[in-house]
Amino acid sequence: MGLRPAMDQIFKSEAQRTHCLTNDRMIRGRYLALVETTIGILGGDALRARAHGALGYTIRADDLYPVADWVRLVVVAAEGGVSPRRLGMNFFPKFRQTHQELFPSRKVTLREALGIVEQAARKETTYGGAPYEMKLESPTTLRIIRKENPLPCEFFAGIIAGTLDTLGYKGTVTETACRWLGAPACELEAVLSQSMPM
Ligand SMILES: [Zn+2]
Repeated sequence: MGLRPAMDQIFKSEAQRTHCLTNDRMIRGRYLALVETTIGILGGDALRARAHGALGYTIRADDLYPVADWVRLVVVAAEGGVSPRRLGMNFFPKFRQTHQELFPSRKVTLREALGIVEQAARKETTYGGAPYEMKLESPTTLRIIRKENPLPCEFFAGIIAGTLDTLGYKGTVTETACRWLGAPACELEAVLSQSMPM
């Protein structure tokens, strides 16, 4: 089966498409519901109905669902012109809304950020731990290395951008190496407008 044009944009290879749509990872329903709702806001009711139809069930916030179904929603969105990166950016704000007790009311250190990311993975997914490594290369440059790869790269880049923003840091996030294009892992660089303490 050939890739449709939007699938070409969202997956970099057939191997990535297969991995994203067949892995056994699970995530809480609130994040699927969030993507479905955002598709309606950004893409209209018809696109939202198409996304809902792609799953064929009504999402319950606290239940666990396949991460592959989360990706299916993002694929429908991309086909309808809604950016995967934009959808990814909403993930961490929703996590903060759900677990406000984990967030101090100030900018966090790198160590604190890593702890909160770990908690997000443990409370909201079956990943079993933080899905990526994050280290400071300079006070304003972060290197993010993906350990888990069930998400399309641009959707993941949006999650990182939204995570940093939620933790108090503005910046730009760019993927600089990709596992699906021959690199050992997907690597992203985040350039922050303010320095992050260790
Ligand atoms: Zn990648």
